[in-house]
Amino acid sequence: ATPVALLVGTGRGAQLGILIAGPEALERASGIDRILLDKTGTVTSGRMSVTEVWAAGATDEVLALGAALEAASEHPIAEAIVAEATRRDAALPVVSDFASLEGLGVTGTINGGTVLAGRPAFAEDQGFRTGPDAASALASAAERASTVVVVAWDGEVRGVVEVADTVKPEARAAIGRAVSLGMTPVLLTGDNAAVAARVAGEVGITEVIADASPSDKVAAVERLQAAGRRVAMIGDGMNDAAAIATADLGIAMGTGTDAAKGAADLSIVSGSLATAIDAVRLSRRTLGIIR
Ligand code: ADP
Ligand code: MG
Repeated sequence: ATPVALLVGTGRGAQLGILIAGPEALERASGIDRILLDKTGTVTSGRMSVTEVWAAGATDEVLALGAALEAASEHPIAEAIVAEATRRDAALPVVSDFASLEGLGVTGTINGGTVLAGRPAFAEDQGFRTGPDAASALASAAERASTVVVVAWDGEVRGVVEVADTVKPEARAAIGRAVSLGMTPVLLTGDNAAVAARVAGEVGITEVIADASPSDKVAAVERLQAAGRRVAMIGDGMNDAAAIATADLGIAMGTGTDAAKGAADLSIVSGSLATAIDAVRLSRRTLGIIR
């Protein structure tokens, strides 16, 4: 029997809500000793809400323009901004030329001008100026270790929106279990270092890679592999898909994007981090029995 046949055959995978991609899915899963974990939607709930808004002018205008762009994005940050604009009954203007840049943010044309919602560095790269008031709003957000999105138009950052979610209730115990099984967890996120450090501390992860673009996530997997490590990557986002595909064992949260699930060896139907860690353990053990 192949390892997969064993895993599927026992029905244990199905019972636990672990979907296996195909016959070759677990071929490289033995000896996993590093687990890279995406933050948003993997370690945290992924249900974000807006916690703070700074606006150069009207708060509602920042949310309306931000939400108009984000309406076409499936990122948890986008959902939070759209929900907050809806809660405030903001009327969303029409967007043309929408573009989504994975791990950076979104842009589009509104009333003839370019509008951007995304990382502060992305706004800067696109030529938007950050004035002193916006800079101090960003500094306050950093002090609070918030996830931050700037909304920019007319050449300038005109809004700073802070969003947050909470760690999954099972996350801390699941991480502890991974460590006790001899696997080192690493938090791998596109979010800023302050948020990453806070979330890592909350769940007991000591290694953190922050500000990681989708290709940085792939590079992190490859760097560990080159050092002789066997790497599992657990994620849910479009920005995780390439790293999931590169890892020796790629795991997607069933609650996540189709891109992540399509790239994965295993999908965790419920999105439970405890089940994901169990899946790694089961994958290692199943192969162990065979060999
Ligand atoms: P993670 O690795 O935690 O899932 P991402 O790589 O998806 O994070 O995003 C990293 C950062 O890029 C976010 O914290 C945010 O600042 C920015 N970003 C990504 N997508 C969007 C979006 N749709 N709207 C605004 N900002 C975004
Ligand atoms: Mg994510």
